[in-house]
Amino acid sequence: MYSYEQLAAWRERCQSSFFLLDPDRLRDNYERFFRAFSSRYEKVSVGYSYKTNYLPYVCQCLHRMGARAEVVSRLEYDLALKLGVEPTAIIFNGPLKTAEDIRLALELGSLVNLDSLSEIAPVLAYARQHPEQTVRVGLRVNFDLTRGGVSPLQNGYQVSRFGFCVENGSFAQALECLAAVPNVRVTGLHGHFSTNRSVGVYRQIARKLCRLAKAHLGEQLEFLDIGGGFYGELPATFGMVGVPSFDDYASAITSTLKEELGESSLPLLILEPGISLVADAVEFICQVVDVKENRGERFVLVDGSVHNIKPTMHAHQLPASVVTRNRKAWEGTYHVVGYTCMEKDYLLQGFHGIVPEPGDFLVFGHTGAYTLVFNPPFIRERPPVLVKAGRDVVVARRKETLAEFLPESLYEFSIPGWQAGGYA
Ligand SMILES: *Cc1c(COP(=O)(O)O)cnc(C)c1O
Repeated sequence: MYSYEQLAAWRERCQSSFFLLDPDRLRDNYERFFRAFSSRYEKVSVGYSYKTNYLPYVCQCLHRMGARAEVVSRLEYDLALKLGVEPTAIIFNGPLKTAEDIRLALELGSLVNLDSLSEIAPVLAYARQHPEQTVRVGLRVNFDLTRGGVSPLQNGYQVSRFGFCVENGSFAQALECLAAVPNVRVTGLHGHFSTNRSVGVYRQIARKLCRLAKAHLGEQLEFLDIGGGFYGELPATFGMVGVPSFDDYASAITSTLKEELGESSLPLLILEPGISLVADAVEFICQVVDVKENRGERFVLVDGSVHNIKPTMHAHQLPASVVTRNRKAWEGTYHVVGYTCMEKDYLLQGFHGIVPEPGDFLVFGHTGAYTLVFNPPFIRERPPVLVKAGRDVVVARRKETLAEFLPESLYEFSIPGWQAGGYA
């Protein structure tokens, strides 16, 4: 745990509540993940899911260790290029790719996994214009994972919105359309699903991808992409037992591939972890502004928000601790509430622990995934990001000024020609 003086010094560096990245933790997560798969299977490629946390510093750390970039928009694609990622090491997924996005990615040799029939025409057009190039694409597939009437999809969904449906023939139709141009090859299948993250579901997905590949791709098969969605290490506050390890996932997936496809000439196995690499590598540190009581309830106001630490509003309680300068600390029950003026802005509800005083710090763990890229700036600027560097810190994202928050190059600040009655 940090000392009060330590946190005060870091806060002084950035003049704000802040995120704190532990690059050693990030490296350790990546290495454990990669080793779990590469120790069991020869050809493994890890594409880091940018959307989970595309702080350039985080992406660069992971690329330095050998991760590819898994992107789901042109914006993320351009960021990967800007960070110096080889275009051939970019995996372009996601439901919205324009014809121009597809053309660029194919021209630069990135792996494009198509998501719906509307993306096929741009591939065919590109292939016709470049008859000398073999145009390789993957297809994201969608199939029923329900077992015994129970769907493993998150939020209780019965049917996923992504990819080409196997059951209703869309997948076969996509293959047929793509076969119309001879220099197009479907070289792999992509099967990312948002599920309950159980090992059994990954076994099911791996098996189905193998069988579809054998039946429809045959000799053209070069890769199978299982996607992301794996559990990393979870904090005790989540109260979950029997959470699968990276080794459990790797063992199930790689043994399924070998069972289904045989040991020789196995395809490249692609994985796209996000949350499992970054969630526990980032903490959020905010300062107590006020402590007050309203009709018997104690509210601790901090210069942070639930939007900083849990923009997805998941139900789990994050690990939290109080760092106080008061040595005669006493315990009690209280709520920790944020700056946003929203009634539901609770960082902690009914929390029991040391009751902080104004100036004390709250440290929230497990805040690296779907946080600092997801929701604010709302009402306040985005919190800066510091990175642990030995006993010191480096600043990976500074505190925004108004001019950076609402840049004059983007916004109109005066409204010439507009009268209260509208445009004349
Ligand atoms: C979101 C996403 C991932 C990463 O999922 P995590 O749950 O963060 O591991 C991987 N692949 C695709 C296609 C995604 O959309």
